Amino acid sequence: MSLDDLPSRLRHVRQRIQIACERAGRQPNDVTLVGVSKGHPARCIQELASRGLTDIGESYVQEWQHKRVTLPGDLRWHFIGRLQSNKARHVVSKVALIHAVDRPSLVQALERHADAPQDVLLQVNIAGESSKSGCAIEDVQALLDRVSGSSTLRPVGLMTLPPAVENPEHARPHFRALRELRDRLRDRIAATDDWAAARFSHLSMGMSHDMAVAIEEGATIVRIGTALFGNRPTE
Ligand SMILES: *Cc1c(COP(=O)(O)O)cnc(C)c1O
Repeated sequence: MSLDDLPSRLRHVRQRIQIACERAGRQPNDVTLVGVSKGHPARCIQELASRGLTDIGESYVQEWQHKRVTLPGDLRWHFIGRLQSNKARHVVSKVALIHAVDRPSLVQALERHADAPQDVLLQVNIAGESSKSGCAIEDVQALLDRVSGSSTLRPVGLMTLPPAVENPEHARPHFRALRELRDRLRDRIAATDDWAAARFSHLSMGMSHDMAVAIEEGATIVRIGTALFGNRPTE
């Protein structure tokens, strides 16, 4: 993958987002593109940042820490990976958004180490796959109550990784289910707190192969790796 290819890949991804938004009657500005750079060197991020990519997703604490000191301070970092509780302190209050909060023990660890308000998404195991992390659907309300009771963590929506399928259409029911779950939870929050309900608006769903379907189903954040950076060298 050469650095020279990156600008045209970014243009192409932005185009795909725009076309999906048009089809869905949505505004492209309502969908945040997070460039998922795990496995790719900092200079690739730098190249896309210089073309206007502002939001970067990382999955591994050490790799992110290394890139963070190398790259300009105005990037908005998203921690999208599974976060071990004993590493929570390295991440909390240092990134724009933590995508994968899925269990009370992690909430507790994040809370203990937060020194500034931290926006978080609850990761939902939307298809109930035994191999996947993410909170079970029936436990999401309790997890949301737990996060909502925190003085530093702010729940701003849901995230999911649907089952890997060849045909993106097969992911559609899972994306739709996540949106409906967000709507139900938001209604319940609205019964007691309009501000918190308005904030609970995000759906982080959609990757390189299924971003169009995810956007049609209401994604507000898409996490795009391969389509931007190419195949991951380490996989
Ligand atoms: C790697 C990764 C992505 C990006 O996937 P691509 O198929 O390369 O776009 C998105 N979300 C999560 C949680 C990831 O780990």
